[in-house]
Amino acid sequence: MTIDTHVHTWRCRHATGTVFEYIQEARRRGVIFLGFAEHLPLPSDLVAADPYARSYAMPESELALYASEVSAAKEEAGRHGLVVLLGVEADLHPGNEDHVRRLLASVEVDFVLGSVHYLDGWAFDDPDRVDGYDRWSAEDLWERYFDDLAHAARSGLADAIAHPDLIKKFGCRPKVPPDALYELFAEAVADAGVAVEISTAGLRKPCAELYPSQDLLRALRARKVPVTIGSDAHSPSEVAYAYDAAAAAARGAGYRSAVVFRNRLAEEVPL
Ligand code: ZN
Ligand code: FE
Ligand code: ZN
Ligand code: FE
Repeated sequence: MTIDTHVHTWRCRHATGTVFEYIQEARRRGVIFLGFAEHLPLPSDLVAADPYARSYAMPESELALYASEVSAAKEEAGRHGLVVLLGVEADLHPGNEDHVRRLLASVEVDFVLGSVHYLDGWAFDDPDRVDGYDRWSAEDLWERYFDDLAHAARSGLADAIAHPDLIKKFGCRPKVPPDALYELFAEAVADAGVAVEISTAGLRKPCAELYPSQDLLRALRARKVPVTIGSDAHSPSEVAYAYDAAAAAARGAGYRSAVVFRNRLAEEVPL
């Protein structure tokens, strides 16, 4: 049973494909749960201050449109055995919580993925901004990132944390495996009752492995943290990308099921 709880559409301005095209592709690939998780609009002051940010998320004027478009597609997809879920990917760096809370009050979503893409105004996952890595030691950067990610988990705003070790995307890694950071993060998500995404996007990036690493996944499993599985597709051709690799990693860490969120409630799907 293939699930994909993290896909983007053209609305975020750095992905391609319409809701309809994603659904067609998901049906072709035998997906049973497809979760749209468009980038929730960023605050206007951030967009004004950061020229890159215009193409990081859908504009606020389109949030309601996005929600109604995905919702409208549910019934027809359902007749073909595909459950379509309306989600968003929210930037939960410290200080952005009130903005996210305000936007979430205006739409009824099935799920919220919480992400950290910004550290002190630097979008560290943008390939056009990798020069920012020169300002950090890998140790400090990873510590700061996992701090912020644990904070995001505790915000109570997200159902699942997306691409948990995204900080490795371009190959920046501490010299010693950061087991202590994994423990702290696993404890934070377990306490907060939040799930974590296994994202196959990392397989398509320089780090060339799943987010999270197998060590981090084992730490999550030890604390019984539920997992969901997403491709972070930015084009319809990436729907359910390498699903089998993610499911195998989950099973290898001891998981027997993954979760999807409908109306913000977790439902188990066997792996
Ligand atoms: Zn994106
Ligand atoms: Fe993301
Ligand atoms: Zn995403
Ligand atoms: Fe994304």
